Amino acid sequence: MSKLDEIKTTFAGKLESTRQQHAARLEADLQELRARLLREFEPSIPADLGSRLGRLAVPSPAVQPPVQFQVDISTYDSLRQIDEAFFQAFHLSDYYSVSRLNYPTLYCETLEEFYTPIVSQMDLSPEARRGELQRLIEAAQEAARQNSGGILGYNLPGKGAYLNGWLFAFRQGLTPRQAFEHPEIFLHIMQTAAHEKLGHGFLNVYSALGEVKTRLGLTQAEIARKFGLRGADDPVSSLRREQANLLYLASQLLEEGWATWAETYLARTTLGLGRHPRYTLQQVVEAVQSVTEQAEACQALLGALALLFSAEAVPIEMLHQAVMIIEMLGGMLDEFLDEQLGQPLRYAVGELLFVQAEANLGAGCAPYAALIAANITFDPAAVSLADLRDLLSRDPRLNPDARLAALSRLKLDKKDDVRGMAKVAAAQLSFSVPKELQ
Ligand SMILES: [Zn+2]
Repeated sequence: MSKLDEIKTTFAGKLESTRQQHAARLEADLQELRARLLREFEPSIPADLGSRLGRLAVPSPAVQPPVQFQVDISTYDSLRQIDEAFFQAFHLSDYYSVSRLNYPTLYCETLEEFYTPIVSQMDLSPEARRGELQRLIEAAQEAARQNSGGILGYNLPGKGAYLNGWLFAFRQGLTPRQAFEHPEIFLHIMQTAAHEKLGHGFLNVYSALGEVKTRLGLTQAEIARKFGLRGADDPVSSLRREQANLLYLASQLLEEGWATWAETYLARTTLGLGRHPRYTLQQVVEAVQSVTEQAEACQALLGALALLFSAEAVPIEMLHQAVMIIEMLGGMLDEFLDEQLGQPLRYAVGELLFVQAEANLGAGCAPYAALIAANITFDPAAVSLADLRDLLSRDPRLNPDARLAALSRLKLDKKDDVRGMAKVAAAQLSFSVPKELQ
């Protein structure tokens, strides 16, 4: 074995043992969190949790069409108009250069078109790449025939947002062009475009977290995982996957919540279609209560929801515990909740945090609250995996989901005042705020 191989093997071994320790500690932490939350909150989970916050389901007055907007669904270019509507509705150019989001949204008519950009990003030999592409296409065809799901879109920051026109069409027995021109399917296509590009893409391009993820290739690692792509198996790629996992875990409410909120808000305000918000707290609480298989986990989740959406002041440390409960338990219950919510719990709870932000800060502040939540000030590549995990789970001010939870509860003198919100976040929560918003 060469010296280099030896180093690689030792490194890979260390990484694996760190990974195992991490899993074991996660489990221990979860037990502790659950116990603490139940001890402190079980008696006070209010019976009217869902209905008490019913007001959150009522769109705030700010949810009015922000722009006059006409979509011509006969041209694929219509998808670009959604970007324009977003820029205008949230006055993006007052704070950031809109050109960073000026990359194309592509409606792909074939699976090959849809999968090629992501496969091209993979660090693989040309033959392996061709093999992966073929495998993905066949798996997608098989899943579509079985009606067992599929991926409708993804966003490669700075490169393109790709929509699976083939799948939208296949599900309805139409051609991709016919699907695009069908008003109901168009709404779904438009929501997917908004979710991927203005949701995930926006965070990627403008936030500190997104910048770090893209620089380290973590965004690609996350997308590859979503597609079940086999990445390279060298130690650095494994390390990147582990870093991506940790950051993903700590920012899933922010990512999926913002993307879901933006998607329904834009459909409602620009097309006058769909429902905004998609979820109500009542619906989420009832879904969790209906799961009988995991009683203890459900109690902990209800406690977490009670904290996140409480009308009373809650210390940020408790909000942090609540988001960690959801980060960790949400995935475990998704198989039970999926049927009722139609999506994993993180989408629903994340969207509700943005609905809470909309009620407290005004819809105009929502995208910027997302950027403040994602304004992490450390470099994940400069710390060990164990330290990264500690930073995210020990300090609420470094955990994007906990930051979002705290921001969503701030009270402002004047709603929709972005710089005002940034000031309050810095003064009351001691949050780092992007310089563009100061
Ligand atoms: Zn998403």
